[in-house]
Amino acid sequence: MSEMVVAAVVMIVLAGAAVYAVSRSRMNPGKTETAKPARSNVISMEGHRRAKQNATEQLCSSCRKKNGKLIFYAQDDGSVVGLCKDCKAKAKKRDMLPL
Ligand SMILES: [Zn+2]
Repeated sequence: MSEMVVAAVVMIVLAGAAVYAVSRSRMNPGKTETAKPARSNVISMEGHRRAKQNATEQLCSSCRKKNGKLIFYAQDDGSVVGLCKDCKAKAKKRDMLPL
């Protein structure tokens, strides 16, 4: 289960990086634009949408309920948990870092 959470987080981070790169290249329409194939935009948007879907469909790692979008936190041992908005308060008390 935790491996699935990690995979989802990796997808979200990658999608976020892709969106950041796309928005940056849009802001600077210069040399980087011609170097990029147009197809990569389509793929990254698709990946972003899927990552967003995953985040809303996954169970909370703490209460095991589908409780809307999860917030992901890194634990001391390096593992990652996705917590719903109700369990977010517990994570804050444990000084966990949001990803
Ligand atoms: Zn929860």
